Amino acid sequence: MKNKQKIAILGAGESGVGTAILAKKQGFEVFVSDFGKIKDKYKKALEDLKVQWEEGGHTELQILDADVVMKSPGIPEKAPMVKKIMDKGIPVISEIEFASKYTDAKIIGITGSNGKTTVTKWVYHTLKNAGLSVGMAGNVGDSFAKQVAEENYDWYVLELSSFQLDGIVDFKPEIAVLTNITPDHLDRYDYKLENYVASKFSITKNQTEEDFFIYDADDEITIEWLQHYKIKAQKLPFSLVNKVENGAYVEDNNIKITTQNSQFIMPTSSLALEGKHNTKNAMAASTVAQLLRIRKETIRASMENFQGVEHRLEKVLKINNVLYINDSKATNTNATYYALESMESETVWIVGGVDKGNNYEELLPLVNEKVKAIICLGLDNSKIFDAFGNCVEVMMETQSMAEAVQMAYKIAEKGNMVLLSPACASFDLFENYEERGREFKNAVRNL
Ligand code: ADP
Repeated sequence: MKNKQKIAILGAGESGVGTAILAKKQGFEVFVSDFGKIKDKYKKALEDLKVQWEEGGHTELQILDADVVMKSPGIPEKAPMVKKIMDKGIPVISEIEFASKYTDAKIIGITGSNGKTTVTKWVYHTLKNAGLSVGMAGNVGDSFAKQVAEENYDWYVLELSSFQLDGIVDFKPEIAVLTNITPDHLDRYDYKLENYVASKFSITKNQTEEDFFIYDADDEITIEWLQHYKIKAQKLPFSLVNKVENGAYVEDNNIKITTQNSQFIMPTSSLALEGKHNTKNAMAASTVAQLLRIRKETIRASMENFQGVEHRLEKVLKINNVLYINDSKATNTNATYYALESMESETVWIVGGVDKGNNYEELLPLVNEKVKAIICLGLDNSKIFDAFGNCVEVMMETQSMAEAVQMAYKIAEKGNMVLLSPACASFDLFENYEERGREFKNAVRNL
C-alpha cells in the first residue's frame, strides 16, 4: 500500500487549523507548525483532531519531509523556513489552493486593494436572499478549508487577499472580481508594484472562456496592467464614467448592467451604502448576482437592504446634529479618498497611525474642499502636518482616542461631520483596526 501523503502546515490560525481539519479528513498525515504561540481555541481544535503540532519554533526535518506545505497567508515568502522548503522543491500552496481541490462547489473569488470585504458580504447577502446554498469565507468566519470539510454548499463567496492568491496553482473561480489596485503591502512584494499587481491578477490566470472577470474600468492601474495579461475569461467591467456594452455603468443616476443579453437597472439613490466607491461595490455585487440569474427584484432588494460592514464608513451617532463616522478600516489613502469624497458637509477629520509610504497629495483637493480641522492620532504625525499644514486652519494632535473625539466634539458645529478615516495602519497605538474603531465608537457614545 502507498504511504500516506504528508502535509506540513505552517501557521496555526484560522487557515492552518482549517487546512488540518480538511487534510485529516482526506487521509493526509498532518503536521502543524507555528513559529509563534498558538491561540487556545486552535490548540484545542488540533488536540481534538489528534494531529501532531508544535509551537514556538519549526522542526525543520519533519517539515522538509512533507510532500506538500500549506503556508498561512500571514507568513512571508521570505521567512527562512519557507525558503528552505522551496529550495528543496516541495510545493508551497495556500489554503485556498488546497481546499478547492476537494469541493465541486462553484466559486466567486473577490480580490482588490479596497472593497473586498464589502463586496464579499454584499454578494453573500444577495445570494442568501435568493435562497442559494452558499458559504462565505476569507477574512470572515470559518476558513474555506474547514467549510469544505464540514459543509456541502453549491456556491462559495471567497474574499481573497494577495497572500492567498500567491499560493495558488490550479485554483479557478467561475466568477472573479478585482475591485481595484492601489499600492499596498508593498513590503511583501520587494517594493515592486508589478509584483503586487501580478498577485492580484492571478485570480484570473486559470479561468477559461466560460468564466467571468469583473473589474473597475475607471481604475488606472487595473486598466494599464490589463493589457499585459492574457485573460481568457469574459470581461465585465464596471464604470462610473463610461458606458460599457457588457458590464455595469451609471447613466442618469441609474446603475445599468448588461450580462448575457439580460439587463438590470436600479437607481443609485436607493443603494444601501453611500459614496461613489460603494456604488462601484454595488455594481460589482449586482453583476455577480445577474450572472447567476437571480431574480431582479431580489437583486434590487439586496442592494437596498444590505447593512454594511462594521468600521467601513459606519455611521455611529448623531450628537448635536453632528454625525460621527467610523472608517477605521481605511488603512491607505485610496480608502480615505473615497471617505472624504462622500462627506456631504464640513468635516472634522481624524487621521494618522503607521504610515505605509503614503502620498497625501491625492487628498489635497478634497481636504481643501471639505475639511475644516484635522486631528492627528498617531505616534509620529509629522508627515500629515507637512502635507496639510497650509490648507486647514485647525490642526491638532493627540495619542489618545478619547481625547481625539473630545477635540472633534469641541470643534464641530451643527451640520458638520466627524470622520475617523486614518489612511494608516493602527499598530502604533492600537492592537488592530477593529480595536481602533471600537475605541472611537465608545468615545463617541461617552460624549
Ligand atoms: P478590504 O477588505 O479590501 O480591506 P473593505 O471592504 O474592508 O475592503 O474596505 C476597506 C476600506 O476601503 C474602508 O475604509 C472602505 O470604506 C473603503 N472602500 C470600500 N470599498 C472601496 C472601493 N471600492 N474603493 C476604495 N475604497 C473602498
